[in-house]
Amino acid sequence: MNVEKTGGRLFGSGRCSSLSGSPGAAPVVHRMVEAMSQLQDEKTQLQEELEVLRERLALRNSDQQATSTQLQHQVENLKEKLISQAQEVSRLRSELGGTDLEKHRDRLMVENERLRQELRHCEAELQELRAQPAAPCVGCEHSQESTQLRDKLSQLQLEVAENKGMLSELNLEVQQKTDRLAEVELRLKDCLAEKAQEEERLSRRLRDSHETIASLRAQSPPVKYVIKTVEVESSKTKQALSESQARNQHLQEQVAMQRQVLKEMEQQLQSSHQLTVQLRAQIAMYEAELERAHGQMLEEMQSLEEDKNRAIEEAFARAQVEMKAVHENLAGVRTNLLTLQPALRTLTNDYNGLKRQVRGFPMLLQEALRNVKAEIGQAIEEANSNNQELLRKYRRELQLRKKCHNELVRLKGNIRVIARVRPVTKEDGEGPEATNAVSFDPDDDSIIHLLHKGKPVSFELDKVFSPWASQQDVFQEVQALITSCIDGFNVCIFAYGQTGAGKTYTMEGTPENPGINQRALQLLFSEVQEKASDWQYTMTVSAAEIYNEVLRDLLGKDPQEKLEIRLCPDGSGQLYVPGLTEFQVQSVDDINKVFEFGHTNRTTEFTNLNEHSSRSHALLIVTVRGVDCSTGLRTTGKLNLVDLAGSERVGKSGAEGSRLREAQHINKSLSALGDVIAALRSRQGHVPFRNSKLTYLLQDSLSGDSKTLMVVQVSPVEKNTSETLYSLKFAERVRSVELGPSSRRTELGSWSSQEHLEWEPACQTLQSARAHSAPSSGTNSRPGSIRRKLQPSGRSRPVPV
Ligand code: ADP
Ligand code: MG
Repeated sequence: MNVEKTGGRLFGSGRCSSLSGSPGAAPVVHRMVEAMSQLQDEKTQLQEELEVLRERLALRNSDQQATSTQLQHQVENLKEKLISQAQEVSRLRSELGGTDLEKHRDRLMVENERLRQELRHCEAELQELRAQPAAPCVGCEHSQESTQLRDKLSQLQLEVAENKGMLSELNLEVQQKTDRLAEVELRLKDCLAEKAQEEERLSRRLRDSHETIASLRAQSPPVKYVIKTVEVESSKTKQALSESQARNQHLQEQVAMQRQVLKEMEQQLQSSHQLTVQLRAQIAMYEAELERAHGQMLEEMQSLEEDKNRAIEEAFARAQVEMKAVHENLAGVRTNLLTLQPALRTLTNDYNGLKRQVRGFPMLLQEALRNVKAEIGQAIEEANSNNQELLRKYRRELQLRKKCHNELVRLKGNIRVIARVRPVTKEDGEGPEATNAVSFDPDDDSIIHLLHKGKPVSFELDKVFSPWASQQDVFQEVQALITSCIDGFNVCIFAYGQTGAGKTYTMEGTPENPGINQRALQLLFSEVQEKASDWQYTMTVSAAEIYNEVLRDLLGKDPQEKLEIRLCPDGSGQLYVPGLTEFQVQSVDDINKVFEFGHTNRTTEFTNLNEHSSRSHALLIVTVRGVDCSTGLRTTGKLNLVDLAGSERVGKSGAEGSRLREAQHINKSLSALGDVIAALRSRQGHVPFRNSKLTYLLQDSLSGDSKTLMVVQVSPVEKNTSETLYSLKFAERVRSVELGPSSRRTELGSWSSQEHLEWEPACQTLQSARAHSAPSSGTNSRPGSIRRKLQPSGRSRPVPV
């Protein structure tokens, strides 16, 4: 540019000089200068225009580049949008949605509202049903149905709630999708509008560019012409021209260059145009794709909407069916309710009635209790009276039993005599004296035969035991007597016989084979224990001996002390022995201890015990006292077990002095015993109890309804036949009066006259009194005696000894 400017100034100065040097060439030069200046101006103008064009081109290039980049951006944006649209379409495919959803939504809402109303209605009915009292329906078949219906209803409610939730979700989604669709459509419209604008702008620019290029093309030829014209002028001019031409050439080159550039630009424009076309095609393609996708999306939405409608219809149909079923159930429940209402009314009435009854129940209960109490009291009274009656009967039965027993004993005889023959022992020695003189009747066990001095003598007793009879056999015979002691009878068992005949063996026995004493006590214990549930018994034992008519206590501290038999000071006429020791025994062991003690006393006292014992009477007195737990009835029975002194006659032994005295005492007491027994057995008016200490002591046990058994011990050997004969005669004398029932009653008449006795059992005396109405030899009982006989039984009397 600087060169051009400088040249310009040169042109200016040169032209001035030439015009002043040659006036002929001046017009040409002038014209040339003018032409030159004109050309210069034109050139300058052209340069300016070129400059402008360059700038424009640069601007256009930059514009085109910007447009191109913008378009590329737009294309990128559109691609992104297309991708997002495709994603949206694919997402929408998986979801429900559509424009018609709103209608369905409205329909569903209406349906929902209807269902809600129905539900409210159902709930209200349900509430009513619940408000009904539950009690009447207990056990009712409708209650189960109602419960099922309730469950179904709650299920349906749950389903309706779920459907509602789903519907609201669907509504929300439809709303969202509609919004998004509208947004996408709006965006598409914007994009399309932008594209159209851009296209228009680009085409306008392209048109402008074409016009500019065309105008530039149109301007170039005049410049060439001027340059040629200048060339034919002067040298200077030629030079200038050449310079100008050079310059022109340069300019032309530049123009060519510019044209090249322009061409290039045109090419670029062309390529950009092509790009634009391509982009448009792409856009169209994308649009078509979008359209297609939109169509697909619409189709999808259509199908989804159809599915949704179908599902809704199905759900609706199902809900309708279920509602119908619910309605039907409800109708059933209503009818049930209607049928139940009367039942409920009756139940309510019943309930009220029951309530009234419950209110009145305490009164009723009290009354019932009063009645029951009265009944119980009456029953107790009745039971009491029954008990009293039973007690009376029981007492009567007891008395009857006793009466029967007495009768039995009476028939058998209150006093029984049995004989026991001991076996031949070593002590009997050998030879003719030791031969057996006793034989028995095999058919009658009450007969005994004795060969005395060659003459057979027979005796009949109540029973005869041979030497082979065991202790148990003998005890068997006497045990009924012993047990009657528990019932309050007094019993005496005597062992009678000469020394060595077996009295002590029968009464005491040996430790290995005990006799009546120990067996009797054992039996008493076992009997007492058997009756322990009804009776309370105490047993006491005393042991005494009578030697030379002196009574001694074998269990006392001083066996030498003489004991006296006295009348009770209470005036009852009872006898007792002051100072006689009584041991209370509770077991057989106790009895054994008592025996041992008594035995020890006797052993220490006498040096020759065997001899002494054969000269004295040994007494074991067992007293059994009983109380009936239920009646309070008291009984006292006494068992006297007496091992008598030897019955051998004194004269025979030829004794003197003390021995004689002993024998006299023994004989006296034994005779007295025989007399007493005989008197009792023959029911004599007077019984000589006081003739000896023994009979006096045993008075109460020998009289009345007491039972007496005498065991006559017999030695079988030849040398003892005299004593045996004597003993058997004594036995027979005791048993001499054989009493038949009628004669016994006659005897009873004399027996009942024994009013000096301290006590008599009422039953027997009553019976005796009755018996007196029969002809008898005895004296009838006096009124006084009958009165006494009616007094309580002797078993409740003070205990005599
Ligand atoms: P008592 O007491 O009458 O004087 P015992 O009882 O002492 O007579 O008897 C004299 C002897 O005869 C004794 O050795 C006794 O063991 C014996 N004895 C008596 N009876 C029998 C019998 N039934 N069986 C066997 N031995 C007997
Ligand atoms: Mg003896």
